[in-house]
Amino acid sequence: MSKTTLPRIVIAGGSFAGLTAAYELKRLLGDQAKITVIDRNDQFVFIPSLIWVPFGWRNLEDISFPLAPALARRGIEFEHTTIEEIDAKQQLVRTRAGSLPYDYLIIATGPHVDYDVVPGLGPEHGYTVSICNGAHALHARAAWEKFLSEPGPVIIGATQGSSCYGAAYEFVFNLEYALRKAGLRRLVPITYVSSEPFLGHFGIGGLGAGRPMTEWFFRHTKIDWVLDAVIERVERGRVILKQGKRYRATGRNGDPEDMRGQALPFAYAMLIPPFLGVEAVRRSGLGNARGFLVVDDYFRHPQYPNIFGAGVAVAVAPPSPCEAGCSVPKTGYISEVMAKYAARNIVASIRGQPLTPKPVTEIDAKCIMDAGNQGIIMLTDRIYKPGQRKIEMLIPGPWGHWVKVWFEKYFLWKMHTGRVSWP
Ligand SMILES: Cc1cc2nc3c(=O)[nH]c(=O)nc-3n(C[C@H](O)[C@H](O)[C@H](O)COP(=O)(O)OP(=O)(O)OC[C@H]3O[C@@H](n4cnc5c(N)ncnc54)[C@H](O)[C@@H]3O)c2cc1C
Repeated sequence: MSKTTLPRIVIAGGSFAGLTAAYELKRLLGDQAKITVIDRNDQFVFIPSLIWVPFGWRNLEDISFPLAPALARRGIEFEHTTIEEIDAKQQLVRTRAGSLPYDYLIIATGPHVDYDVVPGLGPEHGYTVSICNGAHALHARAAWEKFLSEPGPVIIGATQGSSCYGAAYEFVFNLEYALRKAGLRRLVPITYVSSEPFLGHFGIGGLGAGRPMTEWFFRHTKIDWVLDAVIERVERGRVILKQGKRYRATGRNGDPEDMRGQALPFAYAMLIPPFLGVEAVRRSGLGNARGFLVVDDYFRHPQYPNIFGAGVAVAVAPPSPCEAGCSVPKTGYISEVMAKYAARNIVASIRGQPLTPKPVTEIDAKCIMDAGNQGIIMLTDRIYKPGQRKIEMLIPGPWGHWVKVWFEKYFLWKMHTGRVSWP
């Protein structure tokens, strides 16, 4: 980096982590750096509200805003293009629109959603719907509208290797509520299928009273559940299990039914697959075997100290592995925490000041699990270190739903106006 020119900071990805990092860098550096965000998507989408799109309770316009004008207002450049590769040695981000040099880079490219994990999975080459992006959520809405005229069994859940269990829980409870509102609940058996070893595991070994509370919710709403599930394949209208144990909502706690080799019928199914690092990161050789960026306690790449990572793109070791395979959830709040530390440590690097560590095992979590007309607010001081938690709070009730509705609006306003230093 030349001493006479401004440092060039490039942020790959303009969502929860990338946008937070960009605004934080601008807040701290003002005009002392050239900051550029690159994203293949020209909109910020509040992904947590995609669970409501299939039921027509949100349109994509309600939960998104265009990135370019929001960033321009803060003096941040935006490149709407796809990153193909990062050349760490040359300090170049190669995109479809050309190469962009950087002095510092933050990789905040989120996940590649791996539908290939199970044959027949996903909306593009399979038979299940998805809510992992806006286009998929709209497709899930079209399938839902068709389903309402021909109702049948429903399967919702997360495949082996998944990490996003929270969204699967939210979706199954919202779907159950939507069926009740449509007067169709009695006609539709619902089964939750997951690789978790117990309900409320979430890929983090559970949280406080999450297990009995989630079981109570399932029994109360008469949703059956299959645990330790490994899905072999999905065919039109059938999920075939390699293994799994089925529990009936109306049954007593006892021996579950062995589902090895069994098929579960469905008229509507949404299963969340595992996440990998995105192709551009995998191709660049910067990630681990799954394409996630390994970082140190400063969110810095161990080999390239001018490359930082934040959000889902970052590798986090599972605190509580599951027999059937599960990964670690990285929520929006956690992505923001990582992004702020990455941004502040870039500022410290530029100014020759000491960097501030934040081991992932010390990251807290604030989360809302929505269930249609109620929900659970979840708080913990150490999401990835179950054995060292001092706080594990779960607050169920109708306010959970209303807090999520309020938070969606507040968060969209905060990100639209760049006020990332607000809580
Ligand atoms: C259905 C669903 C519901 C969820 N609900 C919640 C919730 O209730 N609460 C919560 O806290 N979290 C929730 N999450 C998780 C939350 O959405 C993620 O934690 C958050 O989106 C991670 O932010 P990120 O910036 O790391 O990645 P992302 O939000 O995935 O953003 C990555 C960005 O990088 C861009 N990008 C990727 N590759 C390239 C490329 N090659 N070139 C250019 N741009 C690229 C993408 O376009 C994207 O904008 C949910 C997730 C899902 C899927």
